[in-house]
Amino acid sequence: MEKTSKKFCCKMMSSQFDKKCDIHDSIYDCPDVLLDVNKTKTEFRILIHDGGTSGIVIKYCPWCGKKIK
Ligand SMILES: [Zn+2]
Ligand SMILES: [Zn+2]
Repeated sequence: MEKTSKKFCCKMMSSQFDKKCDIHDSIYDCPDVLLDVNKTKTEFRILIHDGGTSGIVIKYCPWCGKKIK
């Protein structure tokens, strides 16, 4: 298994996907989760916590500004 943390541009980005919440089963219910990624890890989204799974696709990392491949 490949370590996912290596794929991320910065610590802030990888920490988003390292954290686990004990309270919420779904990341879409958890206000602490700011981003999600699709299965192929090519599309990152900023989540809109509106009770659904909506998000806005981002092309650049919101923390370090690097382009997301
Ligand atoms: Zn970054
Ligand atoms: Zn939570």
